[in-house]
Amino acid sequence: MLLCALVFLQACRGGRPAAVIPPAPEAPAFQAAFTAAPVPPAVQARMQGRSYPDGARIPLSELRYLRLSYIDFSGNPQTGEMVCNQAIAQDLIEIFQALYQARYPICSIRLMDDFNGDDEASMQADNTSCFNYRTIAGMRRLSRHSLGMAVDINPRENPYVRRSGVRPAGSEPFADRSRDFAHKIDRNDLCYQLFREHGFTWGGAWASVKDYQHFEK
Ligand SMILES: [Zn+2]
Repeated sequence: MLLCALVFLQACRGGRPAAVIPPAPEAPAFQAAFTAAPVPPAVQARMQGRSYPDGARIPLSELRYLRLSYIDFSGNPQTGEMVCNQAIAQDLIEIFQALYQARYPICSIRLMDDFNGDDEASMQADNTSCFNYRTIAGMRRLSRHSLGMAVDINPRENPYVRRSGVRPAGSEPFADRSRDFAHKIDRNDLCYQLFREHGFTWGGAWASVKDYQHFEK
């Protein structure tokens, strides 16, 4: 288990880029690498009591299960899983297709349930995710993640910054956005541009707190 975690972290911190050529966008293999479907029963079972607690006020029928190809920090193609609201499923398919074509590096895309619904653990693993039925950190109000209408991208390098501190723990070096570093989301970033084109707002533009990983509709 510990070895797995170490290998996983190592994979996210980089390594030698591999010379892998993604399939052409028009190829059936490319289309098949990005799919949206009703949440399958096996995935529903994984979600129950984790990202989907008892009393969650959104029916599972309004959510979609996405399989998304992406390029990891080592330059290797991977397949990720994401659950989102049906209203943004097509947006996310198109955004992640464009990110893949541009070889935009993403550390990992796993369901929040792999982290027992623990947002901090997912962020510390630099995991990109969407649906998680939870309140906004430090508040009682439900987050847009609770409706599957918000996505967090590479959270370790793009932390949630407020006066009382930085989340996830350990991401303090990335809170200073005047610095230059890999995987930083700013207004020149492709990810930022794609989400804006699809009508999402960016947490990095908020006035009171800054949530550089966060895009919502
Ligand atoms: Zn978020």
